[in-house]
Amino acid sequence: MKEHDGFMKALKCRECGREYPLTATHVCEFDFGPLEVVYDYDRIKKSLTRAAIQSRPQTMWRYRELLPVVNDPTVGLQAGFTPLVKADRLAKKLGIRELWIKNDTVNYPTLSFKDRVVSVALSRARELGFDTVACASTGNLANSVAANAASAGMKSYVFIPSDLEQGKIVNSLIYGAHVISIKGHYDEVNRLCAEIAGKFNWAFVNVNMRPYYAEGSKSMAYEIVEQLGWRLPQHTVVPMASGSLLTKIQKGYQEFVKLGLVAESEAAIHGAQATGCSPISVAQKAGLDFFRPVKPDTIAKSLAIGTPADGFYALKAMKETNGAADDITDDEIRDAIKLLAETEGIFAETAGGVTVGVARKLIDSGKIPRDDSAVLCVTGNGLKTLDAVAGHVGKPCEIKPSLREFEALLAHEEKVNA
Ligand SMILES: *Cc1c(COP(=O)(O)O)cnc(C)c1O
Repeated sequence: MKEHDGFMKALKCRECGREYPLTATHVCEFDFGPLEVVYDYDRIKKSLTRAAIQSRPQTMWRYRELLPVVNDPTVGLQAGFTPLVKADRLAKKLGIRELWIKNDTVNYPTLSFKDRVVSVALSRARELGFDTVACASTGNLANSVAANAASAGMKSYVFIPSDLEQGKIVNSLIYGAHVISIKGHYDEVNRLCAEIAGKFNWAFVNVNMRPYYAEGSKSMAYEIVEQLGWRLPQHTVVPMASGSLLTKIQKGYQEFVKLGLVAESEAAIHGAQATGCSPISVAQKAGLDFFRPVKPDTIAKSLAIGTPADGFYALKAMKETNGAADDITDDEIRDAIKLLAETEGIFAETAGGVTVGVARKLIDSGKIPRDDSAVLCVTGNGLKTLDAVAGHVGKPCEIKPSLREFEALLAHEEKVNA
């Protein structure tokens, strides 16, 4: 254990277990397996107690021993510790005893769960001496890289598919990022970024920095456990794009058990996709260990990855925890967005609709028993995907500024509703 590695030990290949130094690299040279950060849990156990955690500021960095930076973080210090909302009205509608929403629609600073991964990736990139950061994105990652790079005084290049929602594009441009729009699907954007990363000495948060970046997702699991009063949820429903978040929720729960911060209990992790891009859920439902790549066609653009990098490991995580997966149509996504908004006052983007709608399906099919308790990960804000629901939410009633007209309107509504 070298002093300058902090609580990290090494990067380790998920396939063959070979170890690598903690640099900006992400694949094993021998079998091309993905690299993952491994930690010195004996050392972490000495300082990361429940009391220590509770004494720290309410951000994701209260679990800093389990996040892959050596020194104090310098980017994204306010990210995380979003509300865990007890959703009794939605629970009633879905027919389940106990339901919680992990509400990352209000994450800081760019209103999605990506603020977690980016604060880690950029803090680590700075430690490693990079001044330029980049990413391949389905939208939210680009927003978060652009905003966090701006506030850290770093240069950023964000690469997106050209068919993204206007809200996601403006939310990257506003921060002065170099926004490169690629005529193609995310998988083509990602392939180009792998080539660029090989040529330029930039920190690509989800390419050469991926092992560090992905660890940021674990903070969502830690917060859920702490906010539930130090217990594991019986069920967690997680939206899947690359599948990374789902695998890191499992890792986060496992680490808390290993460190003695929470008692071990059954915690099923379920995956949610849109039917128009459902390679992982289709494989899970067929009982397969491998997915077949698809061409995305769905309004859930933030989840539109046809060749999910962590799809294989997401399938494994669901299998190990007795979780299930399912997918819903674009119309069902819109209905679920409305249902969440009308019952809990939370306006989620399309990915949130996917999570809520798939949870409903899993409850109806008995895969989440009605007597159990579940947490739904709602990962992005509806204000960024207005296009997805505009035209499906009705219209305001327009009147002249006159009391008579207003009373006539009320009388008319009463008649219609009678
Ligand atoms: C990126 C993203 C996800 C999940 O991404 P993974 O690649 O599976 O980790 C979920 N929801 C939203 C809103 C996202 O932007």
